[in-house]
Amino acid sequence: MYDCIIIGGGPAGLSAAVNMAQRGKQAVVLTAGESLLAKAELVNNYLGLPEMSGSEMMDTFEKHVRQMNVEIKHAKASNVLANDGDFAVNIGDDILTSKSIILACGAAKAKPVSGESEFLGRGVSYCATCDGMLYRNRNVAVWGLSEEAVHEANFLNGIGCKVMYVAGQYPDGLDEKITYVHGRIEEINGEATVKTFLCGGVSYSADCIFILRQAVPTDALISGIEMNGTHVIINENGATNIEGVYAAGDMTGTPYQVSKAVGDAQCAALSCSKYIDDKNRGQK
Ligand SMILES: Cc1cc2nc3c(=O)[nH]c(=O)nc-3n(C[C@H](O)[C@H](O)[C@H](O)COP(=O)(O)OP(=O)(O)OC[C@H]3O[C@@H](n4cnc5c(N)ncnc54)[C@H](O)[C@@H]3O)c2cc1C
Repeated sequence: MYDCIIIGGGPAGLSAAVNMAQRGKQAVVLTAGESLLAKAELVNNYLGLPEMSGSEMMDTFEKHVRQMNVEIKHAKASNVLANDGDFAVNIGDDILTSKSIILACGAAKAKPVSGESEFLGRGVSYCATCDGMLYRNRNVAVWGLSEEAVHEANFLNGIGCKVMYVAGQYPDGLDEKITYVHGRIEEINGEATVKTFLCGGVSYSADCIFILRQAVPTDALISGIEMNGTHVIINENGATNIEGVYAAGDMTGTPYQVSKAVGDAQCAALSCSKYIDDKNRGQK
C-alpha cells in the first residue's frame, strides 16, 4: 500500500511528489497524458527558470521527481473508492491502494453530455475493463475520445459485447466486427438504466455507453467530493471535504498558472504528510 497516490503528472502532481518524498512518504504519480504546460511555447514567469518552453520545464520537473525516486506511472485513474479509511484507485486492469490521495488532474477539459451524470453507474461507464463483463452479449457503445479507446473497444468485443464505436474518424486497429458510427454522442437517454443515445440526430440502442476520454470528470472520479462548478473545493491546507483526499493546481481554481499549481501542491502534500503521520500513530 502506498502512503499516497497522486493523480495527475502536471506541475501540481510533480510538486506534490517531490514534497511527499522529502517527507519520507512513499508516493506514486499516475498520469493519463501530457500536462497542459507542454503546450506553452515560452514560460517566462516561473521563478528561477526563465525563457523555457513548457515541455523543457516539464522535463526539468520530471527529472527532479525521478531523482527523488518517485515512480511515475502512465495510467489513467478511472475511479477512487474510499475503503475503511484507505483508498483503492482503479487504473484499468489494476487496482492500487493508498492511505491518502492528492488530486492534481488539471482544469476540467470536458463538459459531461446530457444524461451522462444522471446515468453514471446505470449504463454510463468510464472503464471498459472494470464494467465490461456486466454487458456480455449486450449492445454497448464506446465513445472514443482517448488513445486507449480502440484497445478497450476491442477488449469489449473480445468478451462478447456487441460493440458500436463512436468517433469523429475511423480509428486504426479497430476490430472489423465492431460497427463504426461517425460523430459525437449528443445525449444519453433511458429510464432506470440507459436505453439509447443520440448521435448526429439519430437515436441508437445501447445498454451501456463507455465514455473514454483522456480525463474523467472529478465528481465521477471520486464520489461525494464537493465542487464549485468545475473546481474542487479545498480549505487552506489543500484538504477536500473527504478525509485523506487533497487537491491542488488548476483543478482547484484560477489563476491557472504554474507557480500557483506548484505552491498549492506543496501545501497539500505537507498537510497530507501530517495526516499520514497521525494515521500511522493511530490518531486518525
Ligand atoms: C498554451 C499555454 C500556455 C501557458 N503559459 C503559461 C505561462 O507562461 N505561465 C504559467 O504560469 N502558466 C502557463 N500556462 C498554464 C499552466 O500550464 C497550468 O497552470 C499548469 O499546467 C497547471 O498544472 P496542473 O498540474 O494543475 O495541471 P495540468 O498541467 O493540466 O496537469 C494535469 C495532469 O493530470 C493528468 N490527469 C488528469 N486526469 C487524470 C486521471 N484521471 N488519471 C491520471 N492522470 C490524469 C493529465 O493527463 C495531466 O498530465 C499555460 C497553459 C497553456 C495551455
